[in-house]
Amino acid sequence: MEFKDFGLAEPIIKALAAKNYTTPTPIQAQAIPPLLEGRDLCGVAQTGTGKTAAFALPSLDYFDRTPKPRPLHSCRMLVLSPTRELAAQIADSFRDYARFMRISVSTVFGGVPINKQIRALQGGVDVLVATPGRLLDLIEQRAFNLGGVEIFVLDEADQMMDMGFIAPLKRIVKMLPKERQNLFFSATMPKEIAELGGQFLHDPVRVSVTPQSTTAERVQQYATFVNQAEKQALLTRMVREEPIDRALIFTRTKHGADRVVRFLAGANIQAVAIHGNKSQGQRTAALQAFRHGQVKLLVATDIAARGIDVSGVSHVINFELPNVAEQYVHRIGRTARAGADGIAISFVADDERAYLKAIERITRVKCEIVPLPEGFAEMVRNLPKPVPQPRGNNGPRRDDGGRGGRPDRGGGDRGRPERGHRGGAAAPGGEGAGRPFRHRKKAVGAHQGAVQKFKR
Ligand code: AMP
Repeated sequence: MEFKDFGLAEPIIKALAAKNYTTPTPIQAQAIPPLLEGRDLCGVAQTGTGKTAAFALPSLDYFDRTPKPRPLHSCRMLVLSPTRELAAQIADSFRDYARFMRISVSTVFGGVPINKQIRALQGGVDVLVATPGRLLDLIEQRAFNLGGVEIFVLDEADQMMDMGFIAPLKRIVKMLPKERQNLFFSATMPKEIAELGGQFLHDPVRVSVTPQSTTAERVQQYATFVNQAEKQALLTRMVREEPIDRALIFTRTKHGADRVVRFLAGANIQAVAIHGNKSQGQRTAALQAFRHGQVKLLVATDIAARGIDVSGVSHVINFELPNVAEQYVHRIGRTARAGADGIAISFVADDERAYLKAIERITRVKCEIVPLPEGFAEMVRNLPKPVPQPRGNNGPRRDDGGRGGRPDRGGGDRGRPERGHRGGAAAPGGEGAGRPFRHRKKAVGAHQGAVQKFKR
């Protein structure tokens, strides 16, 4: 099957050719034909599967077939996204696919001045990509209404729920016109998410791609048991020794992310952080620097990193494990994009062992245990001090061994997360505590170098 077989409008075919896309991905092959017929859709798919084009292309085709003036203070298509980064990314994709059409695409999300967004929406837009909180602000200020919506997309529904956006979502859905096409996407489909979809989907086509284990199977997964207080030394060693092209390092908290960056800077290793306490400008700059290869280490909290599409991420390093096992699948999905292989390495403190077990249960993949490197105690002792925290930093000041701090809740948007990550107790410091290292029989792939060095 090729894109031309769908009978999409000429300007869309031209845009796809310009991007050198000839063959639809599985989600596109399944979703585009029913969406072109105007059906509702319930899709289980993660980012990285080509999901955005799966909903963008048939919608653009609809606009081409059904031209209408833009509805004043409203939009023809509304896409809801849990995070600003994902919203910006979806809008960019839309603009790309619509580059040969006269389609206006706007974004609204928190963390940036609202007035500019109000002005941009005055004359109406074709496609609006929004986070729920800011969208409701605009509606409450009577700067926007949902009366013109013909197509409604709810993306990353499971993340929306995790972030506590359910109440705002329900309010938004109530304001939509009755006659509309609904698309609902989620990376996972537990019962509560399916019920949410059931509330507004009408006889949806169900499509599902990349069961969670598939991504997980493509990623070589390693875990090292290490005390929380010694993780920084292990990370510093790892980024020096591993052949890393580009790595995403995940922490649970905003404070933890900043702390990792400051420690790396102390060791003369450049990294940038992206989390909910950063201004939109800082987040965009960090992402750009990472995307363009100016910085090869991006330290992120889950919420900030959700859905970020950066190709060539060779490593995902879980400085701390998420306590929600599905989150691990999203994290490691940042590598292994577009069919590539990737490496995921998790640093597991004593109090995170239960998380590792839960993760292995849902991925059905056992992480290969890598022992601490020889001479690790020495490395811990010689770890360079972190660079001082810059003045005016709005994160918490207390030094909590990298373990405390509030879980990142995205910042900016109005909808308050209900379920964050549970705080963990500080792990015991000192060397030698609880390390049942098994020696590996064989080392695989790019991680091999470090593994062998570890054994020496
Ligand atoms: P998404 O899941 O929408 O974030 O897409 C993941 C990545 O795959 C993005 O970089 C897309 O531009 C790219 N992509 C989407 N569809 C195709 C396709 N049919 N062929 C090649 N790349 C694609």
